[in-house]
Amino acid sequence: MKSPSFEVVIIGGGCAGASTALALLQKGVTSIAIVEKSDFSQPRVGETIQPPTSQLLKQLGVWEDFLKEDHLPSSGVASAWGTSELEYTDFIFRTYGKGWHLDRNAFDTMLLRLAVERGATLFAETRLKNATKTENGWTLQCGNTKLDAQFVVDASGRACAFAKLQGAHKIQFDDLHGIYTYWEQPKDALETFGAAHTLVESVEHGWWYSALLPNGTLAVALMTDTEVIKTHQLKHTENYLDLLQQTTHTAARISRLTQVSSPAVKVANAYELDTMVGDGWLAVGDSASAYDPLSSFGIHKALQNSLEAGAAIQAALCGHTRVLKDYAQNVQHAFEGFLTTRYQYYAMETRWQDSPFWKARQQPISVHPLQEIKARPNIPPKKWNRILPNHAIQSLLQGCSTPTTAAQLVQDFQKESAHGYPDWRVIQAVSYLFINEAIG
Ligand SMILES: Cc1cc2nc3c(=O)[nH]c(=O)nc-3n(C[C@H](O)[C@H](O)[C@H](O)COP(=O)(O)OP(=O)(O)OC[C@H]3O[C@@H](n4cnc5c(N)ncnc54)[C@H](O)[C@@H]3O)c2cc1C
Repeated sequence: MKSPSFEVVIIGGGCAGASTALALLQKGVTSIAIVEKSDFSQPRVGETIQPPTSQLLKQLGVWEDFLKEDHLPSSGVASAWGTSELEYTDFIFRTYGKGWHLDRNAFDTMLLRLAVERGATLFAETRLKNATKTENGWTLQCGNTKLDAQFVVDASGRACAFAKLQGAHKIQFDDLHGIYTYWEQPKDALETFGAAHTLVESVEHGWWYSALLPNGTLAVALMTDTEVIKTHQLKHTENYLDLLQQTTHTAARISRLTQVSSPAVKVANAYELDTMVGDGWLAVGDSASAYDPLSSFGIHKALQNSLEAGAAIQAALCGHTRVLKDYAQNVQHAFEGFLTTRYQYYAMETRWQDSPFWKARQQPISVHPLQEIKARPNIPPKKWNRILPNHAIQSLLQGCSTPTTAAQLVQDFQKESAHGYPDWRVIQAVSYLFINEAIG
């Protein structure tokens, strides 16, 4: 039997996948399938959107439907960052008014429902397993079904399911994880003042985040590194609560609440794919790059990517494949902008200068430019993919196979690399190799 055939098959029906379908439909591409492995029964993290995201929801033509859902308006962020005092950033004084705490499952399923209503075909509870390049595009093994596609969109989030099959790798920038618990409010004392504020509180080992969900429960998470989770055994409730009780504002916020879930770990590290477009495919949302949740920007970026991807794919289907490279460059450029902002934010917290969590984010440069360095002999073969793609790291190691200075190594690398990475990123990669004893 002939496989069902589509112009575009989208892997992943999260906010990036569904929005890409909506953007393509707006561009007149109507033969679209969305392949989604889950049934949306598990809670999804990533619940706060900032005011400007409303503009993207309007562009996608879903704003009226969004307003009909029970998402909770958010008036701003209260943060104790760099100081123990709370400071308020009120959205109300910004151009686009309020932000929102989402019922994330409802948000994702709304986008998916609208994509289907407007013409996309959904293959629910179906997982992409394999992909084969054909003369006209791709044959995808999705669950027990084979689908043909002229173009494939990887919108599978952190799984990067299709891109990995094409040999793409994540370039990681940190080891951030969120360790989540959920709390119920007493019915007679629902939080009122500050209820709609996201609370952020920095501590020695990272930062606490808490936000009310539309169903009245409070999501509380410690954002920290894997090492801290292991050392303090934070999956054990008593150890987790011990750290939570050491906070000021977060502890006060949960003081009358009842914990209703055990600590659960979510990966939250920042990365970008080393290859996010190829012949007949591209990646969107977290499949292409993931930002630190401190930015509360992941969903916004996913929608932004989707609108740009919709235009790029439509052009590519008409033979203008150059636009795919432009799309990738925009995503990379935005990622570099995010890294700079991230550095500036973390640098504002100066209270725990010896804490490995803060050190890793504040002093990423640990080699003096004039320090003489040399790659260590017999480094075990390893795919580095940290700060720069593996091939770039290998050429840095090659560049210091004989002694040179850090500054010279960076200069020589930049001369030979056609990519045009910013200097700070190459310097950070050299520092990373130094800290990890690949360079001595
Ligand atoms: C701890 C944490 C807190 C965050 N907080 C915020 C926040 O407050 N605000 C914000 O804007 N962002 C936040 N983010 C980021 C935000 O959650 C993501 O950026 C966003 O979910 C990306 O959407 P996506 O559609 O690309 O990926 P996802 O939402 O992960 O969707 C991917 C979809 O692909 C499906 N899939 C995966 N593999 C396959 C496969 N093989 N076959 C078929 N389907 C597959 C999955 O089931 C899923 O539905 C946070 C992230 C983390 C980790």
